[in-house]
Parts: sequence; C-alpha cells; structure tokens
Amino acid sequence: MAASAESKVETENVKTTDKFLLRMQECYENYIVIDSGANLTNKKYGRDLESVIQRAKDAGVMKIVVTGASLRSSKEALRLTRLYPGVIYSTAGIHPHDAKSWTEGYLDDLREIALNPECVAIGECGLDYNRDFSPAEIQREVLQKQVALACELQKPLFIHEREAHKDLLDILEKFRENLPTVVMHCFTGSLEQAEKYINMGIYIGITGYLCKDKSDTGVRKILESGLIPLEQLLVETDSPFMYPNTRASKLPTHVKEALTDRSLMFLQRYCTFQRNEPCSLPAIVEMIAAFMKKRPEEVALATAFNSMKVFGLT
Ligand SMILES: [Zn+2]
Repeated sequence: MAASAESKVETENVKTTDKFLLRMQECYENYIVIDSGANLTNKKYGRDLESVIQRAKDAGVMKIVVTGASLRSSKEALRLTRLYPGVIYSTAGIHPHDAKSWTEGYLDDLREIALNPECVAIGECGLDYNRDFSPAEIQREVLQKQVALACELQKPLFIHEREAHKDLLDILEKFRENLPTVVMHCFTGSLEQAEKYINMGIYIGITGYLCKDKSDTGVRKILESGLIPLEQLLVETDSPFMYPNTRASKLPTHVKEALTDRSLMFLQRYCTFQRNEPCSLPAIVEMIAAFMKKRPEEVALATAFNSMKVFGLT
C-alpha cells in the first residue's frame, strides 16, 4: 500500500475510533430510562413522530409504552409497535372520559388488540370524577368490563384515577382474587391514597405533574417521605401532556440544581407546554431523584427494570 493510501486508512480509522468513543461517552452520560406512558398517537405527533422517537433514544429513553385511550388510539398504538419493534409497546383501553361511547362490540375489539404480545397492558382505563366527561355510573361499568378483561388475559392494568380513589378501590376489591399487576398512572393523589395503593402492591407512575403540585400532602411530599419504594415506582412523561415546568417558582432550589445541562437541553429545545415529548424523561427522573434524595442513575435503572418486569418488555 502506498504511503498516502496508508495514512488515509489511518485517518479513517482514527475517525471511526473517535466516533466510537463519542458514542461510548454519550452512553455513559445518558441514563437508561423507560417511558411507561406516552400518548404518541396524539395528532400533535402526526408530522414528526420519527424525530420524536429518535430524540427520545438520544436522551436515553430505551423503550416507550404508548397508551391507547380509545379503540382508535389502541389500534394505532399497536400499529406503532410494528413500526418500532423493541422500542414501542402499546396498551389497549377506553379512557374514563370516553366511557359513554362504549358499545357492545368494544370488549371483543379490545380483546383482539390485547391478544397481540406487543400490547402489554389493558388501559388506560379508570375513573375521573374531576372532569366528569362521562357519567360516573357509566365510568364504573366500563372500568369493570376492562378490569375483567385484564383478569381474563392476565395483562397488567394501566389505570387513570382522579378524585375517585374510594370507588376505584371498591372495583379492584371485587376482582381481588384474579387481579393482575396494577399501575396507577400519572399519580396526582394524596399521601394517604398513595400509601393505600402501595400496600396493595400497586405501582405508582410519576410524571412532570410534580412541577405543578404544590400541596402539602401531594406527589412531592410523597417522594420526600420515601413512601414509594423504588421497587414500586414507574416514570412516565404522559406526552404530549404533563410538561415538566422546571421553572415553576415553588420548585425547591436543590431540585432545580439537580437538573443537568444535558437533560435541560432536551427539555428546553424540544418540549413545550403544548407538546411534551418522551425526551423530557431524564429531567423528570432527576427531579424525582432529588426529592427522594437518591442518585438519578439509581432511579433511572430501578424504574426501567420495573417497567420491563411489569409489562414484560423484551
Ligand atoms: Zn391519564
């Protein structure tokens, strides 16, 4: 080989090594996290889903559970699992807001979707007495049908609950014998309610809501008190909702200071109040860790492991 050609090969090799080292470095800087709930079928991602998912991966989000909240979005979420195998998983359910749209054939349709291995949970389903978009009575009926389906298929339940703690417990109690793993997604309740769920072995999903919560017995206090064991904690963005506003005035200084430049870069460059993205998850994990007085790496790994275990992700 001529000298010039040889040096060219050498430079190429150096370049490849540089690239490799850079990637290695990125891996070390990143957390390994799993977004256990994101509404990526929302039309807000209609134009650039590919980039949204790439950014999530760049931020260290290895896998995303895309929630179905209607028949349409449950089908669409399943379709996404085919486009991004091993990265995207889906759920199938009818949101309490839409309970009134339930018709006879829904149960069979949900079952058909949920029988696919990529569909890893039944939900999001539940009770929401805060907004009351569907009558409470119908919400309870529709939830029971979906809890029964989760029991039948032994797939975890992905539950949405707002101001309906007691009624939700009553329904879960009815199915106690056969109940699969339950995830209380985007938890916004009180310390007392969290304690009840924890004692029942229920997993608690925490989102960017923790920036908004200023109550004395809410999510921040729950995290600070160490009530939620790492073994029962999940993290989620609930994108495009629940934007983690790290500039919230009441956020304690030590929590703000725990945010790294890298996480803030993803958050500030790509996420807004109007459209949160899974790439905001590392920032959420850093805040959760600061409230819990744990290392972010530890919270990231533990919650990623929990997600894999609960949803059986491969
Ligand atoms: Zn929800």
